[in-house]
Amino acid sequence: MKKKKYFSKKKRVQQQKRVRNFVERPSGRKEEYAKVNGGVFVYSKPLSVADLSKAINVPVPAIIKFLFMQGKAVTINQLLDDETIGTICLEFNYDFKKEAVVDEEHFDQLEIHDDPKDLVERGPVVTVMGHVDHGKTTLIDAIRHSDVASHEAGGISQAIGAYQKEYKGKRITIIDTPGHAAFTAMRARGASVTDIVVLVVAADDGVMPQTIEAINHARAAKSAIIVAINKMDKPGADPQKVKEQLMQHGVIAEEYGGDVICVNISAKTGKGIDNLLEAILMKAEMLELKANPNRYAIGTVLEANLDKGEGPKATLLVQNGTLSNSDYVVVGDIYGKIRRMVNEYGQIIHSAAPSCPVSVTGLSSVPTAGDRFMAFPSEKEAKSVAEKRALANKEKQRGANAAMNLDDLNNLINAGKIQDINVIVKADTDGSAQALKASLEKLSNDKVHIKVIEAEAGAISDNDVLLASASHAIVYGFNIRPDARIRQKAEEEHVEIRLHRIIYELLDEMSDAMKGLYKTEMVENVTGQAEIRHIYKITHVGTIAGSYVTSGVIAADSKIRLIRDGIVVYDGKLASLKRFKDDVKEVKQGYECGFSIANFNDIKEGDLIEGYALVEKK
Ligand code: GDP
Repeated sequence: MKKKKYFSKKKRVQQQKRVRNFVERPSGRKEEYAKVNGGVFVYSKPLSVADLSKAINVPVPAIIKFLFMQGKAVTINQLLDDETIGTICLEFNYDFKKEAVVDEEHFDQLEIHDDPKDLVERGPVVTVMGHVDHGKTTLIDAIRHSDVASHEAGGISQAIGAYQKEYKGKRITIIDTPGHAAFTAMRARGASVTDIVVLVVAADDGVMPQTIEAINHARAAKSAIIVAINKMDKPGADPQKVKEQLMQHGVIAEEYGGDVICVNISAKTGKGIDNLLEAILMKAEMLELKANPNRYAIGTVLEANLDKGEGPKATLLVQNGTLSNSDYVVVGDIYGKIRRMVNEYGQIIHSAAPSCPVSVTGLSSVPTAGDRFMAFPSEKEAKSVAEKRALANKEKQRGANAAMNLDDLNNLINAGKIQDINVIVKADTDGSAQALKASLEKLSNDKVHIKVIEAEAGAISDNDVLLASASHAIVYGFNIRPDARIRQKAEEEHVEIRLHRIIYELLDEMSDAMKGLYKTEMVENVTGQAEIRHIYKITHVGTIAGSYVTSGVIAADSKIRLIRDGIVVYDGKLASLKRFKDDVKEVKQGYECGFSIANFNDIKEGDLIEGYALVEKK
């Protein structure tokens, strides 16, 4: 009896070694992020002179000399900016391209560009779709059992959501959940696992609504289509009619000059199944499906559930790389070491190559079908990636839940994206709270609806802030002042608190926001003034103004205005602020200081500078 093994032990060990070598530091290897590819120097991270020299094979002194001639003095370990890298590449006759890298933490969006020489052929992944009762389930079963010798005796196939069919020495992966629901659920999560959609159309029934639906799904997912004209054993079978009907929906059979292979089959009798498998392999060859088995696996969760005995269990489809049973896997923001990895016959396997579906246990909780997974060599890496992703998710959720502020509201209304505004009103008396509630709600129009979710007397509490955060609400305080702690909490939860003392001002503000007219009004707050008493002109530095702070404070990072004879001659920022020789953050009234203004040197004795900040109008 033939024992199915994905790799011989020796090969596996070899392979694992290579896998380790290759991906030990997936994005850390210099050759991986800076290399010449067909005359084009492609890089994705900042490079030092030494890195660049190695990558483009130009000696370090030549690069340093070239830059020196351009007026740039650099050292061997200095990081080069993109412009400089470009100039060097052009000088040494390379075209250049900077590639954006998505780090591993964002592996959902990770597009892996393997070196073509690392790629090997992988089997096609096939989904069967079509109208109800046209024979999808029968076909999936027929394919599975069409060649009894291909699966081991006693190897009762397990429902893991997919299986691999061996045909003529090649493997075809069949996703065995027929129908569109699973396919769309996958797609809704951004996963695209199917290379080829086998569209089943009953020859006696022809193209039906779900046939068309399936065509649209396949197109949207950019999967290739093969048509299986089924039930050919039935008396009323009319494959020609089916092809003509399909043509009306843009699916054009080869015999009509299109590129869609149509195969006549009978899922019931098994006739034509071989032709269909043949067609799948042919299409797969045309699609040139390839993957790099020598990297850590990346793929998609096909199914997942909580097994009473074994805990979280998931079927993973390896899409690139090789999954080994000693790997750590991250899915969503959960991770775990693979405890048990089995194939569709329940046999324990040690590694799974590209296009191979496997059922694994060992994850800390049940992942979501359609999510992408990635394997890592160590717990440390997997844990760190999972934790970062959990944090990012939390922030995203927080962002999604964050309460609205008036500026956002304004923008959303202008973009036509909002219909409901939730408001919490807290006031000095219950009378004014209720009056405000009524007036605010009356502002509702046919486009924007104001919903006061709470209106009561009293100070703004922690609870109000949390409620606002959870319900995207704005908090209005009338004749009350929140304390510093509540302000801080509101800031943390991104909740906007608006404070008013005059009802019509509050209502005006809201009505402006509803019309998309609200703009946060900024006012100036002068923080201090200084008198310029001496000017020092220093070569390569510029003009330093020796000054005396006459009122308030001058802060190093504040905006400033230079005033001469009552006229503002310059508005900008400080470049430096010093007391004696030391840089300082601020200088208070009654102290001397020296400063220079960023990009401005025309300072004269007797000028004044005024420090100011822009604050929201209260
Ligand atoms: P699904 O809803 O697309 O999964 O369709 P099923 O596979 O459940 O098949 C629906 C019915 O059509 C069942 O009664 C099958 O036995 C029958 N059927 C499927 N394929 C064939 C076929 O090739 N010939 C005939 N005569 N009946 C078929």
